[in-house]
Amino acid sequence: MSTLQAEKDRLIQNYRVRGLVKDELAFEAFREVPRESFLPANYRSSAYSDHPLPLMKTGQTISAPHMTIMILEYLELEPGLKVLEVGAGSGYQAALIAAAITSSELTGHVYSLEIVPELVEFARKNMEETGFEKRVTVISGDGTLGFEEASPYDRIILTAAGPELPPPLFNQLRIGGILVMPVGTPRMWQVMTKFRKTSETEYSQEALSSVAFVPLRGKFGI
Ligand code: SAH
Repeated sequence: MSTLQAEKDRLIQNYRVRGLVKDELAFEAFREVPRESFLPANYRSSAYSDHPLPLMKTGQTISAPHMTIMILEYLELEPGLKVLEVGAGSGYQAALIAAAITSSELTGHVYSLEIVPELVEFARKNMEETGFEKRVTVISGDGTLGFEEASPYDRIILTAAGPELPPPLFNQLRIGGILVMPVGTPRMWQVMTKFRKTSETEYSQEALSSVAFVPLRGKFGI
């Protein structure tokens, strides 16, 4: 077994023992998607050290492995769903989600928006190299406006921290759907929050954990 594979297995074992994640779909997706293939070449050997890593010189980061697998559980994924991600970055989280919403019978789809052009190119290249390009569409633009064309979405995830739920994203979420985002101010801890849309105008909300994400830019960002 390769060193990276052994390190990945150790992480999975660690998450199980700690009870960090219980969702088997999340573990399967984590096992399937090679994080190393979503990293700049000089960081590949650190793929399964459990911390965020920089994405070239963009000032943006790929989240730590434990955060990415927790997000899969927070989203309550199942095969066949349509998911919108704001903040494609490397594309790793989007590929994990795509793996979790695909079964032998059902194929879901992820639309992932990215505001930094260099990262749009990077994420697209990574999808092609890992074979996820048919299940993940990377789109260039301000994710706080959503992507109306493919709405409504069953799930929406923001991987950048904003002051409040962007109204266009709430409008593009299906009733009964779930939106997860880090709410708060940059350079401070934020609260990972789960919103459940209960009617055209209402939602319930639940605080999940303390997190540290890069700032959400754009019209409804910071
Ligand atoms: N999910 C990513 C981690 C991304 S870091 C991964 O798996 O690698 C957050 C990303 O959000 C950065 O790439 C940043 O450029 C992007 N971002 C910030 N504000 C945005 C906005 N309004 N629309 C789209 N992308 C945004």
